[in-house]
Amino acid sequence: MLALKNIKKSYQLGDIKVPALKGIHLNFREHEFVSILGPSGCGKTTLLNLIGGLDHMDSGDLIIDGVSTQHYKDADWDKYRNDAVGFVFQSYNLIAHLSVLDNVAMALTLSGVSKKERLTKATQVLKEVGLEDQLHKKPNQLSGGQMQRVAIARALVNDPKILLADEPTGALDTQTSTSIMDLIQSLSSQRLVIMVTHNPELAQTYSSRIIQLKDGEVINDSHPYTFDPQPVSRKFKNVSMSFMTALSSSFKNLKTKKGRTLITSFAGSIGIIGIALVLALSSGMESYVSRIESETLAGFPLQLNQNVVLNDLSQRPAEVFQPTETSNATQGSVVDSNSENVSHVNVFDEQAMAMIQSIDSQWINSMTFQRNIQLNVATMVNSTPTVVNTTLRSGMGPLASNQSLFFELPHDASFVLSLYDLVAGEYPTQSNEALFVIEDDSTLDQEVVNALHLSISNPFEFSQLLNHSYTFVAHDVLYEVRDGLVSTQTLNETVFNDERNQSLTIVGVVRLKEDAGSSFLNVGIGTLPSFNEAYFTQAQNSAVAQLQLDNEETSVLSGLPFNSFNTYEAALKTIGADLTPQSVLIYPKDFNSKTLIKEAFTTYNEGVKDEQQLIVTDIAQTLSSTISSLISTITLILSAFAAISLVVSSIMIGIITYVSVIERTKEIGIMRSLGARKKDIARIFNAEALIIGLFAGILGISLSYGLLIGVDALIESLLGVASFSSLSLMNASMLISLSAGLTLIAGLFPSQLAAKQDPVVALRTE
Ligand code: ADP
Ligand code: MG
Repeated sequence: MLALKNIKKSYQLGDIKVPALKGIHLNFREHEFVSILGPSGCGKTTLLNLIGGLDHMDSGDLIIDGVSTQHYKDADWDKYRNDAVGFVFQSYNLIAHLSVLDNVAMALTLSGVSKKERLTKATQVLKEVGLEDQLHKKPNQLSGGQMQRVAIARALVNDPKILLADEPTGALDTQTSTSIMDLIQSLSSQRLVIMVTHNPELAQTYSSRIIQLKDGEVINDSHPYTFDPQPVSRKFKNVSMSFMTALSSSFKNLKTKKGRTLITSFAGSIGIIGIALVLALSSGMESYVSRIESETLAGFPLQLNQNVVLNDLSQRPAEVFQPTETSNATQGSVVDSNSENVSHVNVFDEQAMAMIQSIDSQWINSMTFQRNIQLNVATMVNSTPTVVNTTLRSGMGPLASNQSLFFELPHDASFVLSLYDLVAGEYPTQSNEALFVIEDDSTLDQEVVNALHLSISNPFEFSQLLNHSYTFVAHDVLYEVRDGLVSTQTLNETVFNDERNQSLTIVGVVRLKEDAGSSFLNVGIGTLPSFNEAYFTQAQNSAVAQLQLDNEETSVLSGLPFNSFNTYEAALKTIGADLTPQSVLIYPKDFNSKTLIKEAFTTYNEGVKDEQQLIVTDIAQTLSSTISSLISTITLILSAFAAISLVVSSIMIGIITYVSVIERTKEIGIMRSLGARKKDIARIFNAEALIIGLFAGILGISLSYGLLIGVDALIESLLGVASFSSLSLMNASMLISLSAGLTLIAGLFPSQLAAKQDPVVALRTE
């Protein structure tokens, strides 16, 4: 059944070829106990390894079951080893981290036997070799004789046709040797046993045939066998180790090296921790910013100003603005900032007003129209009605601007109070009630105090500002129209007390909150929209306004003709005949609404001529887009660092897997001798890398969550923002997979290296 034909094998030692076998012819019977005798170095082990399919001959043929093995592929040898051959070595070659039972069951895992059957079969074989009470011990807890029995049990568990034993008693005392030899002899009744020994007495006593080897040649055969090999139809079982088996084997191995596995995993987890922290903090930062945006910035109005300077090129109407192409880095171009190219006039005509009024009321808190209409305000100073200056000229030179001391408040009180602290009195609720806004630093400019005729001490109590009253003199009271002529009344008690006038009393004082992003109210007196509505309506309906409407040539107030500075249109607005606003402030409900409103304007602008477009200014946007681009830059940089640490830790895991391969070389040899394929070996190390990667990932994520608690506490104490970071479970599980994936990749090279190990060389290593 087994025949060797002119087998030759030599080893390459540097430049020279050392012949180990010089043409061996041997036939073996199906059941016999053959001893191979010979001095050390004569080629006994080499011969045995060739018979067992562990090593391959240079020339000649090995005939198994009448079939030449010359065309055997790796897979065929693996199957042959696993199914037909059992190996017993002088040095037992047990896997140290597996129990006695698992060592024996190992051979069965390779032939794809179910776990239950594996354990039953392994237990049974161990019973046969007399070790039924040692099943769960580790090899190093056994005596030499016991270890060799385990090795024999392992060799027998697949019920092989051939048992190969390489000096099985070489390391044992005489008494133990005898019992082992008894065992092996009893096995030879069922199968072919080929035993290598250098002990002639043992060979004489136990074996049925003695072959003597010297310098790689057979010099004597006590019981030669000649037969004409007939092909026997016989198929070996397929060898396969499932990935689950590889996993559980690797897991058992790692369990025996807890400390190292932990350190490796920790090293591997550092990269994951880095990425997790960056992810958690940047997403925390993003949600923090968007919260600020929607809570604070979104509350800032969208402005529709009459004159818009288009800083953002993309806002400019395409047909109007054609930028000069600059072809290189040394060229610039001159633009006229007063030309239409860079500025735009929002025209509030009927169509525009209809558009503005049609904005969904669900999106806005309030809408404020700012008008240029002249306010005629008076107040009592020392029992005398006195005119109040409603505007202040602030700033100097060309930067000077008119600042109105009276302005309309947004509809929504809670919006104002989200940014302003009420420092005295109450928020106005009636249309004749007003709110005083003081400077952020609790000061008031002397000019303001003078203009508004405030009787306050210095320093002043906020409550001193309360109860000051102002009277808005009605147009029909101030301007008397008779026969097409206007006579402006002098301010006296009669005019002041006319019941058509509207009075206003300060009932509350506010100041900007310390942590508010920026302000949106001037210093001065804020009135409710209902108050303004009433005042504007009386102005529009007044006789003087009607008179001006009919006279396009001269101002009815001054009697002067209109020119390019004092236009008819401006006069209509000043007098209140034309209520077209100077600017419109739209206060969106939230960030989302703001976006929707802007989109509505974009849509509107697409449908009208360039000069009819309504260009919206969003101060908050510039701020938030700067912040978000800053955040993404920071995130990118941090991610790069984290990615580097991830790569470094993957490489480290690769190196540690490589060390593990080196350490387990012997085990690889044993596995191969049991019929493991190269693939199975690779699988074991891949599984190990995968386990470490998974563990590193889980460890990294757990540590990250732990660290984030600390980071959050720190941020809360510094910024006052609770639970800042956010590491979603989805990101966490993604990172764990990433860790597993990367370590798997890092382990690929070492595991391929393991797979390529020559089993014979592997078995020789100590
Ligand atoms: P034995 O088992 O009879 O002691 P071996 O079969 O182990 O002998 O070795 C036979 C000869 O082949 C020896 O000279 C040994 O040095 C040589 N040899 C065995 N294996 C190798 C190897 N892997 N590389 C180089 N030489 C080897
Ligand atoms: Mg040897």
